[in-house]
Amino acid sequence: MTESYQVTIVRYGTRETVRSDVYLNHHLYAEPDGPIGMDYFFWVLRNSSRTIVVDTGFSAVGGARRRRTTLIEPVDAFDALGIDRSAGPPVVITHAHYDHIGNVGLFPSSPLTIAAAEYEFWTGPYADRTLVHHSVEDAEILGLRQAHSDGRLRMFADSAEVAPGVRVTRVGGHTPGQSVVTVNTTDGVVLLASDSVHYYEELERSMPFTQVADVIAMYAAFERIRGQLDSGEVRHLVTGHDPDTLSRFTPVTDGALAGLAATIGEES
Ligand SMILES: [Zn+2]
Repeated sequence: MTESYQVTIVRYGTRETVRSDVYLNHHLYAEPDGPIGMDYFFWVLRNSSRTIVVDTGFSAVGGARRRRTTLIEPVDAFDALGIDRSAGPPVVITHAHYDHIGNVGLFPSSPLTIAAAEYEFWTGPYADRTLVHHSVEDAEILGLRQAHSDGRLRMFADSAEVAPGVRVTRVGGHTPGQSVVTVNTTDGVVLLASDSVHYYEELERSMPFTQVADVIAMYAAFERIRGQLDSGEVRHLVTGHDPDTLSRFTPVTDGALAGLAATIGEES
């Protein structure tokens, strides 16, 4: 039998940038450049019997190196959500960029699910090239290697069930193993696009992001996600970085996460 979850979206960081910094070859769209915000999120899935963490945000070091603004320390957000980190809740890694794996170390006994293509890329011969390397922290990739040698890494090729009602699927594009997560909720299926779709506009107008390993795979991921939304297979799309994300869902109004989180569905 499948299960339903409540999804909590946590906005832990932010920055201001410009459109030409986020949309690949922005000049091709014949529109002026202009400011655009970028928010940073991770996601938690919960029901009465399980907690699953999807990505972990940037570390203090990784965020500071890139001058990102931290709105709440991820560790404080995990605590505010009452997550028992020592219990080893499963952690899904959508890709290995610094803003997604920076706090994996807070979950030292958790199984980590990651696409094999992602792990292989960042432990392979091209991981140190300038155009890709600036998005990762070597110490954090080392952490993944350590988790692998500890037997905590669960690698998959195309798709894997994390738990009943939670599936992770590799789409590639942004990184070789970029993955999305689909979650059953009491309010329909939620797709956590992570960085396969940074912005709603990115999907609506098929505008690839500047950081891309395979631009055609990125276009194909847009098509796939659009198809899932159009067919009703997916009801809610949660993007990886759009400042408009929280406003689309039920706001969290009290506690340490007031104004910094939103939920989809009820805990059941
Ligand atoms: Zn990201």
